[in-house]
Amino acid sequence: RVPEVEPRGGRSRLVVLAGPTAVGKGTVAAHIKAHHPEIHLSVSATTRAPRPGEVDGEHYFFVDDSEFDRMIAAGELLEHATVHNAYRYGTPRAPIDTALAQGHAVLLEIDLQGARQVRAAEPSATLVFLLPPSWDELVQRLVGRGTEGDAERARRLKTAKTELASQNEFDFRVVNDDVARAAAAVAELAE
Ligand code: 5GP
Repeated sequence: RVPEVEPRGGRSRLVVLAGPTAVGKGTVAAHIKAHHPEIHLSVSATTRAPRPGEVDGEHYFFVDDSEFDRMIAAGELLEHATVHNAYRYGTPRAPIDTALAQGHAVLLEIDLQGARQVRAAEPSATLVFLLPPSWDELVQRLVGRGTEGDAERARRLKTAKTELASQNEFDFRVVNDDVARAAAAVAELAE
């Protein structure tokens, strides 16, 4: 179990940031990492290949399927999920335990399935749902990003619709209308 350090009103300093595809979770998390070095940003394990510029151990731990299976079997992952029906992603447990024990807040930027698992494993975790300013804005961001083909984009938009319907399961909602503002709002929930 993740130790609870300085619980505030029953909430732990384990903060989960989730939200639909292309809402800007990664950008908000990167902003928090840059401006709030006291908050520990969890580095996930994934079976997908690194994108240009991504560094192993910094953006993700890039592992193959058999290593991912081993991590699950060894109980090393706090949660894990297959995201967008493609690759597997999971949150290593040990660095979180260490950071919390050292008095740091911990931020997980993960998908909705992962957020639900963290909620089940650690009910006092703070769950934050990042919202787009509007549905049109979300579509525009996904198109503008240009990292997915038509079929993949359609699939992700379908997932996003389902995910938006789940926002009531979360403790807090933050609208990503401005990255710096949204990041400050999320960081405040971890303080
Ligand atoms: P990407 O491959 O674009 O970096 O991430 C794809 C999706 O995987 C994003 O929605 C991201 O939030 C999610 N993700 C990243 N790491 C984890 C993790 O450790 N667990 C879960 N459940 N989802 C993750």
